[in-house]
Amino acid sequence: MPEAPKNTPKATEYSPLERNKKVLQFIEDVTIKADEVQKKVLAEILSRNAHVEYLERHGLGGYTDREIFKKIMPVITYEDIQADINRIANGDKSPILSSLPISEFLTSSGTSGGERKLMPSIEEELERRSLLYSLLMPVMNQSVPGLDKGKGMYFLFIKSEAKTPGGLVARPVLTSYYKSSHFKERPYDPYTNYTSPNETILCPDSYQSMYSQMLCGLCLNKEVLRVGAVFASGFIRAIKFLEKHWTLLCNDIRTGLINPLITDPSVREAVMKILKPDPKLADFIEAECRKGSSQGIITRLWPNTKYVDVIVTGTMSQYIPTLDYYSNGLPLVCTMYASSECYFGVNLNPLCKPSDVSYTLIPTMAYFEFLPVHRNNGVTTSINMPKSLSEKEQQELVDLVDVKLGQEYELVITTYAGLYRYRVGDVLRVAGFKNKAPQFNFICRKNVVLSIDSDKTDEVELQNAVKNALNHLMPFDVTLTEYSSYADTSTIPGHYVLYWELRTNGSTPIPPSVFKDCCLTIEESLNSVYRQGRVSDKSIGPLEIRIVETGTFDKLMDYAISLGASINQYKTPRCVKFAPIVELLNSRIMSCYFSPKCPKWIPGHKQWTNMN
Ligand code: AMP
Repeated sequence: MPEAPKNTPKATEYSPLERNKKVLQFIEDVTIKADEVQKKVLAEILSRNAHVEYLERHGLGGYTDREIFKKIMPVITYEDIQADINRIANGDKSPILSSLPISEFLTSSGTSGGERKLMPSIEEELERRSLLYSLLMPVMNQSVPGLDKGKGMYFLFIKSEAKTPGGLVARPVLTSYYKSSHFKERPYDPYTNYTSPNETILCPDSYQSMYSQMLCGLCLNKEVLRVGAVFASGFIRAIKFLEKHWTLLCNDIRTGLINPLITDPSVREAVMKILKPDPKLADFIEAECRKGSSQGIITRLWPNTKYVDVIVTGTMSQYIPTLDYYSNGLPLVCTMYASSECYFGVNLNPLCKPSDVSYTLIPTMAYFEFLPVHRNNGVTTSINMPKSLSEKEQQELVDLVDVKLGQEYELVITTYAGLYRYRVGDVLRVAGFKNKAPQFNFICRKNVVLSIDSDKTDEVELQNAVKNALNHLMPFDVTLTEYSSYADTSTIPGHYVLYWELRTNGSTPIPPSVFKDCCLTIEESLNSVYRQGRVSDKSIGPLEIRIVETGTFDKLMDYAISLGASINQYKTPRCVKFAPIVELLNSRIMSCYFSPKCPKWIPGHKQWTNMN
C-alpha cells in the first residue's frame, strides 16, 4: 500500500532524510512508552465523548479511568450497535457514538445480514490514517535505500459510493482516502511519486482507470523502482489486464495517441502529459508480451523493480506462487495492517518472508485490547462462539503491553470515531516485541471460509446459500449427502468452487440447466461484497459446482483419519485448502457447471432503496 504524503513531521518542513529520522524516532518513542500512550489515548477518547449517548447508556459518562471502563463497558460486535448505526445513517445527528460529527460511513468488507458493515468515521481520522501511511517509507528506506530516485507503479482504484437515507456518504475507506485532499493535494515528495496520475486513480470507470494506469506505468517503465496494489489479488488482475490488452497499449505508445475507448477527458489530459510516441518502447513491450509466457513479466518490463508491495498475509497468501512467477521471486512486501474501523500497524521488517510478516500496532491509533483465543488443531473454533462474552471472558481481555509471546488473540478496539470495545474479528498471534509494543502475525479472519478478493464468506452464509440452491433439485428426488468448497485462484479472476456429492433416488436425469440455476442461486444468496466483486469489480469469476462420485467424501474422511484426525470428532470440512485433499476431490469429478450470469447487485444497502 502506498504511503501518505503528510507526515508526522510535516512533509514540507524537513528534508526527506531528516523526516525519515524523525519518523523512526516517533516509532521508537511510542513503542517505548506503549502503555502510557495507550492510557492517554483511552482517556482522550473517553473524556471528549463523555456525554455521548452510548457511554451514558452504559453508565460510563465522564469516567476516563481504564479500570472503570473495562469493568463497565461490554465487549461488542457490530450487531450490538447496529441500531445506533442505523439511527445515524437515517439522519439522527445527536451525539450517539461520538461527540464530533460523523463525517461519513466507511463500508467494510465484513458483512452483517448480507450487507456491508457501516463504520462511522470522523474528519480527523484522515489525519490518523495519513500518519500511519507516513511511517511506511522511512521504514522501507532502511532496507531498500534509494527509493526516492524513482517511481512507484501502484494500481489504485476507487469504488462506488452511496448516500445513506440521512445523507451521509458511505464508501470504502480507500475511496475516501484517495478522494481526500490528503492524497489529492499531497505536496511533492520523492517517496510518494507514482506513475499513475491522480486522475487515473480517481476515474470511476474501472476499465479506463486500469488501462490508463497500466499505460502510464509502461511509458515510465525504466523509472519504476517498486510496484504494487493494496491486495495481491488486485495486482494480479493488473498483470492479467496487460496480458489481454497489450496490443492496444503498445499501439498507444507507438503512436503517442491514447485509445479512443478512454473517454474521460481528465484521464486523457493527464495521460497525454506522459504519453509520447516511442516506437522503440512499444516494440520492446510487444516482443516481451508476444512470448506468451508471463513468467518474470514484472522484471522484464520494469527492469529496475526492487520489490512488489502487496498484502499477501491472511487469505491473500493463496496468491504468493502466482506473484513469485510474475516477478521471478522479487521480495513480496506487506507494509501495513488496517481496516475500515481503524488503521492498526506497520511491518517494521518489510523484507522478511511473507510467512514471517508481523505488524507492530502503533499505540496512538486507537486503544487496543486482546481477547485470548483457544484453537483446536489450528482451526479457529469460532463458528459456534457466542456473540456476547461471559463475565469471565470479559475479564480475560488484556492490554497491548500485556500480551504473551506465542499466544493468539482476537483484536478488540476503542476508536476516536466511536467504537468502544469493538471486536474486529481478526485473530493475531504475538510474534515478538518492538520495545514494549507487540508485533503480531495475522492468523485469520474469524469464521471466513472462502475469499477471493475482499469478499469474506462464512460457513453460515455458505450453508444458507447451498440450502436455497437445493430447492432447484426438489423435483428430482436427489439428496445432497455432503458438500465442501474451495477458493480456486488458478483462474484469474479466482472463483468459488463447490463440491457436491449427491444421492439420486429418482430416475429423472437432472438437466445441466438445473445445476447452473443452483450456481446462480448460491451467488444470489451470498453477501453484497461477493456480489459486488462479481458484478462491479469483476474480481471474482462465476461460481462453479463440481459433482463428485458417490463415496468421495468417505474417501476424504479416510484420508483425514490417515493423517491423524479422530473418527469420533471428524466433521466434513466445509472448505478445503490442503492441496492433496483438493486433488482427491478433483480426481473424482463427474461433471462441472458454472453460473450462467452475474447475480444482482446494487450499490448501497438493500434497505436504503425503500427509504428517503
Ligand atoms: P475492511 O474493513 O474491508 O477494510 O477489511 C479489513 C480487514 O482486512 C481486516 O480486519 C483484516 O481481516 C484484513 N486485512 C487488512 N490488512 C491486512 C493484512 N495486512 N494482512 C491480512 N489481512 C489484512
